Amino acid sequence: MIEVRNFTKRYGDFVAVDDLSFTIGEGEIFGFIGPNGAGKSTTIRFLATLLRPSSGEGYIAGHSVVDDPMAVRKLIGFMPDDFGVYDGMKVWEFLDFFAVAYKIPRGSRKKIIAEVLELLDLTHKRDDYVNGLSKGMKQRLCLAKTLVHDPPVLILDEPASGLDPRARAEMKALLSELRSMGKTILVSSHILPELADFVTSIGIIERGKLLAAGSVQEIQRTL
Ligand code: ADP
Ligand code: ADP
Repeated sequence: MIEVRNFTKRYGDFVAVDDLSFTIGEGEIFGFIGPNGAGKSTTIRFLATLLRPSSGEGYIAGHSVVDDPMAVRKLIGFMPDDFGVYDGMKVWEFLDFFAVAYKIPRGSRKKIIAEVLELLDLTHKRDDYVNGLSKGMKQRLCLAKTLVHDPPVLILDEPASGLDPRARAEMKALLSELRSMGKTILVSSHILPELADFVTSIGIIERGKLLAAGSVQEIQRTL
């Protein structure tokens, strides 16, 4: 469902990501682990069609992220590692903004937003201003945003970063639920134990190189 083939990204002489290859099967939750600066966001932004590679290829359900970014954007929900600024927007307006961007017909938008709010337990916050939300609520809203166009693939950059243990546990439960709904998920973290107990496979990246990739059991044997 997700394939990265020999992806390299250079900034001048600096090699941020070096010949990275991995695949993620349909229905998997792939944990993408590495310390800060390892190259996770660079790889994720490449897959999300936001960054051009120096070389290499990426595919989402067979569509090239380089040659066919519009097709890829319909297939993925992307959660960046920074929330962005949405001054003056209410929770439902924030989701409506993305629903419009995804060209969801006016008649369906209200129903879809209600469903997404319900799924993420945000219904009671629908009229709150985005900027007033707690960090955990903001992260959940960001996850909600990725679901508006019902994509089969979710690409999530450190969705649990900065959350307290309870909000982290809730985020994990949500991701497991989304997987049970059939989503294929790539989720990054700089903390291995944070992902090890609920992902199906893992890739470990350090200084732009993939050190290991495989099932959780395989990885634990090699470490
Ligand atoms: P991670 O997401 O694992 O923390 P990143 O992919 O953000 O790592 O960054 C990988 C490396 O590439 C880091 O050393 C970072 O400073 C560098 N880098 C990222 N973006 C740029 C850029 N636009 N110009 C120069 N260096 C960059
Ligand atoms: P991350 O949260 O993945 O570590 P950063 O906060 O390092 O990402 O980077 C935020 C933004 O700044 C990204 O768009 C990244 O490409 C860019 N960036 C990161 N490092 C550098 C750098 N050394 N020089 C220029 N831009 C950078």
